[in-house]
Amino acid sequence: MTVQTPVPFLDLMTPHRELEEELVGALRQALRSAAFIGGPEVDAFEREFAAYCGASHCVGVGSGTDALRFALLACGVAAGDAVVTVAHTFVATAEAISQAGAVTEFVDIDERTWNMSPDALAAYLSACDVDERTGRPLGRRTGKPIKAVVPVHLYGQMADMDRLSAIAARYGLLIVEDACQAHGAEYRSPSSNQDTGTWRRAGSFGRAAAFSFYPGKNLGACGEAGAITTNDEAVARTARMLRDHGQVRKYYHEVEGYNGRLDAIQAAFLRVKLKHLEQWTALRRDAARRYNDLLERMLTGSAVAAPFEPEWSRAVYHLYVIRVADRERVVRHLTSCGVHTGLHYPIPLHLQDCYRTWAYPSGSLPVTERVASEVLSLPMSPTLTAEQQERVVSEIEACVGYGSTPGAR
Ligand SMILES: *Cc1c(COP(=O)(O)O)cnc(C)c1O
Repeated sequence: MTVQTPVPFLDLMTPHRELEEELVGALRQALRSAAFIGGPEVDAFEREFAAYCGASHCVGVGSGTDALRFALLACGVAAGDAVVTVAHTFVATAEAISQAGAVTEFVDIDERTWNMSPDALAAYLSACDVDERTGRPLGRRTGKPIKAVVPVHLYGQMADMDRLSAIAARYGLLIVEDACQAHGAEYRSPSSNQDTGTWRRAGSFGRAAAFSFYPGKNLGACGEAGAITTNDEAVARTARMLRDHGQVRKYYHEVEGYNGRLDAIQAAFLRVKLKHLEQWTALRRDAARRYNDLLERMLTGSAVAAPFEPEWSRAVYHLYVIRVADRERVVRHLTSCGVHTGLHYPIPLHLQDCYRTWAYPSGSLPVTERVASEVLSLPMSPTLTAEQQERVVSEIEACVGYGSTPGAR
């Protein structure tokens, strides 16, 4: 076998090489002004990112996990509340709920979109007892009154916000979006006119939304960073206090808060990169379309399924994820020929060791468990070339058996 150059899972080098002069300029500017915490760069980034998302306010914080935690707290989630989310996500979604003092209740995902299933949420809530004191549904695992729902826009595709919002509203629950993988992802109401209906971006739907700027995200800092977006001025104000020790002005602490601010240097880097995000998203979408075509041409009828993008969604392909029945063998083969892949996520949260006291038995979220055992993330970056993609898919083709289809589709 001839040794070929590896196909990286994510190319973080090229964009930083291309933007090096601008990024170094931003760093130099920050050093000269010595404004490291807060200040004009943070304010400007917050304005620009709010506008990008179509939200009224943006509050920059230290990470996506901080963003989720502060968003929940600012929306009024408190100790003794339950929050409903999915188990097919990164662990931070559940960590933030615990850190806000609340408890997590999981519902299953949709077999095709892999995001929170509106049907599963409706069925779950309709089976809850109602709290006499608050009138809210009581979590079926914990018996705590449910306050909020956290849909995760996984892999860069939005959850079905119309249906989830309608169900949440029926039970008096608020929605906080986990948009950590979905910068710029769009949703168009399925009931709107399909020619004239407007597309709206992640971060403009829930009471609040959380974004991560972890370096590998579609918009990544050169370190840790995150942000909350909201259309609710009171939520924005509380989030601003929470990130800065609960103070509105220096040494006047209205509530007990945290140290969770966005660095001025990271804000300056993010402003440089935000200008390129549209272009990077377009390149990711091109790459996703090429994968779809290659998979259809080379792998029709095989044990591989491409991601599903409903007509109401314009995904931003943070990850390009396929389903393969015989995943282990495919990963082994791809690794051996230099194609680097990822698993997002191999073990659903309800089966993680850290949550074993929550006592979800295996089999309790059947779709989540089936999907988790079959998902495989292929190389995806704005710089991914058609040649690299041909190679990825032909190596998959060389490996998979024909005839069986993944999952119950
Ligand atoms: C990355 C991510 C987070 C956490 O973001 P950090 O910046 O790493 O704290 C939360 N939820 C999801 C779905 C993520 O992908």
